[in-house]
Amino acid sequence: MNPVDRRKFLFQLAGVLCATPLILAADDRIYVVRKGDTLTHIAKRYGVTVKDLQRTNGLRGSLIKVGQRLRIPSSASMIQPIISATSRIKVNRSKWKYIVAHHSATSQGSAASFDKVDRRHGMKNGLAYHFVIGNGKGTPDGVIEMGSRWKKQLHGGHVSKWEFNDHGIGICLVGNFEKTRPTSKQLASFKSLVTYLGDNLLRERYKFYVHKEINATLCPGRYFPTQAMHKLFG
Ligand SMILES: [Zn+2]
Repeated sequence: MNPVDRRKFLFQLAGVLCATPLILAADDRIYVVRKGDTLTHIAKRYGVTVKDLQRTNGLRGSLIKVGQRLRIPSSASMIQPIISATSRIKVNRSKWKYIVAHHSATSQGSAASFDKVDRRHGMKNGLAYHFVIGNGKGTPDGVIEMGSRWKKQLHGGHVSKWEFNDHGIGICLVGNFEKTRPTSKQLASFKSLVTYLGDNLLRERYKFYVHKEINATLCPGRYFPTQAMHKLFG
């Protein structure tokens, strides 16, 4: 290979490498910023929000430089199907004022298994939550399941106060967090989901709650990082 071809080859190779996220650890991915990239484009490509990228990389504004290495949140692949599915439904933005976090208080489960239980308890719309995030037992770890109440933009059945059922999006993490901690994948998916719903869809016009702040209950358990989530979501 002559020097000119060699230079061309190396240049092309660099382009390919820059375009391909490098696999670092099990879940961490690095994207190297290319000419013309914006945070919005990169966020869209990986199914995360701009805020996700800013938080993960400690960025204050939207300025990025060619060659800069950005961490892509591991939950990117988890939130992508939710973003796609939600883009196909008509979201009633004015209806939703709250996002409420729950644990299932069971060691395992899934949207389907909780749906059965809720129907047995007389809920004709089934699954009381809008979303369920798996812990690896009954649903793969970190996977976000969308309930039919979200698809139909129906009120929830997750709290004992109508204001919060009517206007609150209920998210349940599988697990009993009085006994165990949520998995890191669950928490990453939870943060991506709340960021997407709250910042993107509701344009930050919502209040974040955990169930025990509304009703006398232990939900979502002592090991749920309530304070840390309030720091992120207000
Ligand atoms: Zn609850």
